[in-house]
Amino acid sequence: MTEPTPVRQTKPRTAPPRQVRPRTEGWEQQKDESGRPLLQFASPKRGKPPVHLADLTPEQRVDTVKELGMPGFRAAQLEKHYFTHFTSDPDQMTDLPASSREELVGGMLPTLLTEVRRLETDRGDTIKFLWKLHDGALVESVLMRYPGRITLCVSSQAGCGMNCPFCATGQAGLTRNMSAAEIIEQIIRANRLIADGGLGDPRRVGHEGERVTNIVFMGMGEPLANYARVMQAVRVMTDKKHGIGMSARGITVSTVGLVPAINKLAAEEIPVTFALSLHAPDDELRDELIPVNSRWKVDEALDAARGYFEKTGRRVSIEYALIKDMNDHPWRADLLADKLNARGRGWVHVNPIPLNPTPGSVWTSSDVPVQNEFVRRLNAAGIPTTLRDTRGKEIDGACGQLVATEDDQHAAEDIPVG
Ligand code: SF4
Repeated sequence: MTEPTPVRQTKPRTAPPRQVRPRTEGWEQQKDESGRPLLQFASPKRGKPPVHLADLTPEQRVDTVKELGMPGFRAAQLEKHYFTHFTSDPDQMTDLPASSREELVGGMLPTLLTEVRRLETDRGDTIKFLWKLHDGALVESVLMRYPGRITLCVSSQAGCGMNCPFCATGQAGLTRNMSAAEIIEQIIRANRLIADGGLGDPRRVGHEGERVTNIVFMGMGEPLANYARVMQAVRVMTDKKHGIGMSARGITVSTVGLVPAINKLAAEEIPVTFALSLHAPDDELRDELIPVNSRWKVDEALDAARGYFEKTGRRVSIEYALIKDMNDHPWRADLLADKLNARGRGWVHVNPIPLNPTPGSVWTSSDVPVQNEFVRRLNAAGIPTTLRDTRGKEIDGACGQLVATEDDQHAAEDIPVG
């Protein structure tokens, strides 16, 4: 009798997880002369925007008013008109002498933003503004009404020098840094619109007292590459006596990981919410996805983020755009959880956000079950994780999508500045 030939059990083959990369569709990292990824930290020299009250300290405002030949207390009156009543219109400033109103307003509240275009969702509770600056540069902001809060996503630079391959703004390069007042003016204009009942259902009553409650620096630009002006803007936002008087906690400053600037921010003692746009937990992929990773690696950026928590006691947010087959693998969720847990518990929150889909491209959002699994793994590892709303994507207003189109450029050319 012969032994029956054993049936060979072949292990079912599982295909290795698909890994797409930025270069899959031919994207080439631009390099500088030394062969490192091209990054623009310095703003190209362009004509500076006119100096505005919001660029100055309260003392400087008084001095400037005096230089215009008027008593110093006029500065406080202008502050009230601008920061509380959201107006730069001399006709509405009836407490100022009619003879000097125009001069005072011209010297202290010059026009900084000219509206080029406004896009609204059907219900009108998300609005994207396209603004033209004094030199013709274009920037955008997005206003969003949520239950119990109103968030404005502001731009801090015209363009961006960080060159992230998935980001339309980054591909266009850096035009220039925005001034503190150009950043603030985005909020004042939004507050004006809200006070006029322009956000959401116009029949809604009781909007008079409403205003922007939350700011996210997630429009155009890398905020920490424009550090001094962004910090001046944050001071104006939070100043209760001489500024807008917002809560610092409602202000989120984000970065792709400029480590020295994160350390500086931690030392400021302004308890803003800090967000690190990580997008990959491994240097191999992050080097390609976030070119600034060539200067400061994942671990250095996470150490700085942890340092921010230690200094301020404020829980840090990790932003993670989920990109199909690029960075959404289960092992990356596990690696991210390990790296965060290695730095302690209770200091961080992860916000995955599905990338705005570009159908047929490598830059598309993860499938829903993959998104859910990514979130589940992080939560299971003890990292609080919430999938973020992609509000604004229907009008191309979500983060990483803020770039003026050719159409916008044409529309802007027809609009005189001021
Ligand atoms: S993702 Fe942010 S940092 Fe990167 S290029 Fe775009 S705007 Fe700049």
